[in-house]
Order: sequence, then structure tokens, then C-alpha cells
Amino acid sequence: MPELLEQDLHPTFSPLYSAQQITRAKAVEFIFTPQFSSPQSNFICRKSDSGVKVIYTDGSKTDEGTGSAYCIRENYGIIASWQGKLDSSNSVFQAEILAIRMAIEAASSLHRPIKIWTDSLSSLMAILNPKSHHSIIREIQTLLLSHKHIHLRWLKAHVGYLGNECADQLAKEAITKGDPFLLPKQLSYLKAEIMSAALIIWQDNWYNGETGRSTHDIMPRVSNKPVGWNREEIMFVTGHGPFPSYLLRFNLRTHDNCLCGEKGDPIHYATKCPFTLYWHFQTPTVSLKLQWLKNILTNNFSITRLRLIMRFIRDENNLIVEDNNWALIHPD
Ligand SMILES: [Zn+2]
Repeated sequence: MPELLEQDLHPTFSPLYSAQQITRAKAVEFIFTPQFSSPQSNFICRKSDSGVKVIYTDGSKTDEGTGSAYCIRENYGIIASWQGKLDSSNSVFQAEILAIRMAIEAASSLHRPIKIWTDSLSSLMAILNPKSHHSIIREIQTLLLSHKHIHLRWLKAHVGYLGNECADQLAKEAITKGDPFLLPKQLSYLKAEIMSAALIIWQDNWYNGETGRSTHDIMPRVSNKPVGWNREEIMFVTGHGPFPSYLLRFNLRTHDNCLCGEKGDPIHYATKCPFTLYWHFQTPTVSLKLQWLKNILTNNFSITRLRLIMRFIRDENNLIVEDNNWALIHPD
């Protein structure tokens, strides 16, 4: 593998042809009509094998789909080509490496040095990686090891190399005109699909669930991105904290009254409790409670005040939630 990597695969950055040669190539290009073959076949040679051949590969992806193609040039004309239409879920990277894979297969029957050009540096870097687990990359590495006459090279895209422009055009055409080519979906695509499906199920459960309704009112849409709340905001919104109302749910108290005598839930401490008088918010009407909560959570001054209340409840909990009956349920 090291020999392969250093000698055959190392990308070179030299220009392919001189400007004069490119002009000549463009002039001769009209003489030869590209031949389109099916994805399953190799390539159609219209001339004898005497000329110098190079292969250009490219992949393309648009909203319509993904296309993969190569074209073979001999002297100054395109003598063969291949186009594969991939699924829209396939990536441009997959299209690029598939084109290289197919080009190597086409070149493998020739028994003299042949260069395969790609403008995809990421493909070359992947092929250079001996630890790659990508099945097509592994195939390419194996083929290159057994066909030392095939050399992979990199060229800059869209600077006028005729073969590259041709491969680019064929790859774009392949999106709509190429024969379907089944390629496994990329792992990243499958992960995104699974994530999307999981979010739909989660959203459904969240929408129809019975618990966490106070949080649901404020955050009706599920998301795997953090909402940006810290511990105090979460305590307040969920009601999960050292509140008498919460402790009663877990039989950690015999009643849910605050020491002041009223029900000790988050909104009590935010608006009514005399122990937190200094930081009180105005009591919302029932119909505006949701908007009131949202306003607090989107205003930095309100959030600061809310955090002070929650920290006070946490730090002075013994004072606020003292339970005279505690000894009766926990004799020890
Ligand atoms: Zn109170």
C-alpha cells in the first residue's frame, strides 16, 4: 500500500495541456461524436488502441438527482464515455468515486500507462487513506494495486480542460438521461433519515403525551438542539425542582404547601410567595399565562430575576419547604 500511495496516487498539480494544445483539442473535438454506453458495459472504442488515452471523471448533484460519468479521450477526441444516473439520495462524493471506479475498470483492460483525471480532491484523499472502510474506495485501492499502469491524477475544475468540461457535462446529463445505477445510500444519509423518523415519532408522542404538559405548552416542537435553558429555567418550566408541589409527587412530603400556606409550585414563588417578594413578577391571568412564560424566557432581565428566585429556593429550601409531618413518614 505505501508504494501505491506515494507513487501512483499522490495528486499532481501540473496543468494537463498547454493553452495551444487546448485550442487544438477544441478544434478537433468536433470531429468525434461522444459515444454513450450503458452503465453495465465498459466502453466503446472507435479507434485502434494505438493512441494515447486519458480518462476524465466527474460527478454532479442537483435538486433533480445525482449523476456520474467519465469520458475517454484519445489524442484530441472523445472516443468513449459512460454515464450513470444515481439516486437523489446519493452524494456527489459517491458519484465522483463511482466514476473513478468505472474508469479504472475501463482502463484495466489496457496494458499501457493511462491517466485518470478527477477534479475531486476529497475522492483522492479518501483513496489515499489506507484505513478507509468505504466499499468503493476499497475496491479502487485493490484495483490500483493490481493495475500499476493506471495513474490517478487531480486537476483543477472549470479552468478550460476540455476532457474535464466534457466529463462535467456528461455527469450533469446523467442526472436525467443516464441509466439508473443502484448504489447503497450513504451512511450519513441513512443516519439523517433515521434521525428524521425518530423526530416524527418523538413529536407525535410529545404532542399526544400526558406528562410534561407545562413544558409542552412552551416548547410544542421537539428538537435535538438544546433550547439554551440553564438549570434554573428548566426547574421553573418543568416544575422539577425542590418545590413542595414536586416533592409531594414523589412522596417526599405529605402536602404541597409552601411554608407561607399556599401551594408551593414554581408560579407561586415567581409571583406570590412572601419569601421571594423582592424578585416577584406580575401575576398573569390564566389566559395569558403561556405568553407570560414566553416573555420571561425571552427577556434577559426577566431570566436573571427568575434565576435568582430559583437559586433562592434551592439554597434556602429547608426554610421554604419545611414539613412538620416529615418525622411521621420517615421515623428514622
Ligand atoms: Zn410561599
